[in-house]
Amino acid sequence: MARILIRGLGLVFSGDIAEPVLDADAILVEDGRIAGIGRAGDFDAPRVIEARGCAVMPGLLDNHVHPAFGDWTPRQNQLGWIEAMVHGGTTTLISAGEVHLPGRPRDRVGVKALAIAAQRAFQNFRPLGARVLAGAPVPEGELTREDYRELGEAGVRWLGEIGLGTVKDEAEVVDHATWAREAGLNSMIHCGGPSIAGSNLMQAAVVIAADADIVAHINGGPTSLPQRALEQVVAGTKRAIEVVHNGNPRNALFVMNLLREMGRLDRLVLGTDSPAGSGVQPLGVLRTISLLCSVGELDPGLAIAAASGSVSRWRGLEAGLIAVGRAADLVFLDAPVGGAGEDAAEALLLGELPGIGMVMVDGAAVVPGRSRNTPPAARVPEALA
Ligand SMILES: [Zn+2]
Repeated sequence: MARILIRGLGLVFSGDIAEPVLDADAILVEDGRIAGIGRAGDFDAPRVIEARGCAVMPGLLDNHVHPAFGDWTPRQNQLGWIEAMVHGGTTTLISAGEVHLPGRPRDRVGVKALAIAAQRAFQNFRPLGARVLAGAPVPEGELTREDYRELGEAGVRWLGEIGLGTVKDEAEVVDHATWAREAGLNSMIHCGGPSIAGSNLMQAAVVIAADADIVAHINGGPTSLPQRALEQVVAGTKRAIEVVHNGNPRNALFVMNLLREMGRLDRLVLGTDSPAGSGVQPLGVLRTISLLCSVGELDPGLAIAAASGSVSRWRGLEAGLIAVGRAADLVFLDAPVGGAGEDAAEALLLGELPGIGMVMVDGAAVVPGRSRNTPPAARVPEALA
């Protein structure tokens, strides 16, 4: 398969919170993977992409989506939302529960069957190359330890939000989180008020006791716990803290600042919690990055890491890093035409949405030119002969 040299890069955001910006202006891609990072003179390849000074970042990971089946959301009667997300720079979407499926089963057999079917279906279905990591059962009271073991053996890797179903009391929550972990499922717990009528209020004490891998939408999905309770959750847990687009923006900034003061921004992960009542936002992850950078004065490299390498670290994935050997999931971005800022980092600090000029998944240009959803990037990469 072709070798591709990408040269003329401006900022290279690695996605790794330990070293968020790399000292490089070229990336070599080989067989869909990153084979080298350095200076243009270090590499040669038959195909060249001239980046013209724009920035590159890893394909973003949305830590919190609610797919149903296919590229359709019954919640919003919308087709093509996953492809729209790829145009927003999100190339990996992680299910927090196939919760919007009409008639979603709640019995043991039905919950397991749905999870396994969704995992299999999305493994075979990649709209615009997107990796949709689905098959996240919503914990229901009937499920037993043996059911979790069966799910793990069947290849299910994610547990939908604890609290979306009938499991809500502390002892039961702890059991389900423990059984999921024993079975190799990565888990998350709903935090805050009910999402929609029929789901549950999950208070700080239960969220802390669960010890799930991810505290989902600590800033509300969409209703947040009060700030005093958020301090308890951050102090009382030791794993990932998720901030979402479809939550309370004031508390998104509050929690980011808490983690920054603790020196634990490595715990911060970003998602959209979409599709939801608030809508589907193809640029939701980018908008959250822009909020944290501009109003929260967070370094853009750290904000991007919270939506890429940090998600993959807490989720046990390999996507989300610009590093040798990783999949070449690359998003080329720049300041938007007519906006403030000379490059993508300045634009984010000034509250703009950057323009995306190309998206690659596994080294293939799935969005070959300007995104249909972002404002136009000032500089876009060009494929040379
Ligand atoms: Zn939730």
